[in-house]
Amino acid sequence: MPEGHTIFRMASDHRRWLAGQTTIVLSPQGRFQSEADRLSGSKLVDVDSHGKHLFYRWSDNRVVHIHLGLYGKFKKYENPPPQPRGAVRMRVIGREITVDLNGPNQCDLISPAEALAIRGRLGEDPIKEDADPEKVWSRIQRSRKTIGAALLDQGLVAGIGNIYRAEILFICRINPERLCSELTSSEFESIWNESVQLLRLGAEKNRIITVRAGDSISAPDGKLRRFHVYKQSECPACRRSIFYWQSANRTIYACDVCQG
Ligand SMILES: [Zn+2]
Repeated sequence: MPEGHTIFRMASDHRRWLAGQTTIVLSPQGRFQSEADRLSGSKLVDVDSHGKHLFYRWSDNRVVHIHLGLYGKFKKYENPPPQPRGAVRMRVIGREITVDLNGPNQCDLISPAEALAIRGRLGEDPIKEDADPEKVWSRIQRSRKTIGAALLDQGLVAGIGNIYRAEILFICRINPERLCSELTSSEFESIWNESVQLLRLGAEKNRIITVRAGDSISAPDGKLRRFHVYKQSECPACRRSIFYWQSANRTIYACDVCQG
């Protein structure tokens, strides 16, 4: 599933390609037909995101809420677009660009009040300028979860997925099994700051980068590797084995020595 940096980048790309334009909206697959009919011919005002949720905002207070889930994908075409490929739920045709949305988990026409309610159920998104870490910290202190579970709880922190969780906790040298209530404020601060920096870097480069330039680390076979612990066998710091285990159907990776 795409993590928050991808959705943030998508929102900014789609805004640049389509916002401020009168759009034609279609549902070649048919499942979004009546909504598309109601939107077609009106102006797309803005596209924004929160965590893994995307909001297309049309004139007259109409919002399309999109959650890609595991299989959802956008494709971009220069106009004129080709025949739709696969089951295209929503096609938005702007002046020069067309985007097709296939296979989303959610794609619903909602009101701004409903969009606000969705935002209300989500936690702070570290990539957003207006994110408030104090809100997260006050909830972390009262949480009974482990920090590993808390970072994937979209109602607490929105946008972090499995790869960022593993990497951020390793960089901060914090074990995923530590209880939230046992974290110090400076440990939380380092987790938050890493989240902000790494998600922004990921959005800028359009891929997950957690090993910083000049910080390059090699695998046992000598090749440069992309991650510190995520899907790795050997810790880049102490060279011992990376542990991995299941929690809520996701695999956690950590070095028991460095993140002791
Ligand atoms: Zn280690």
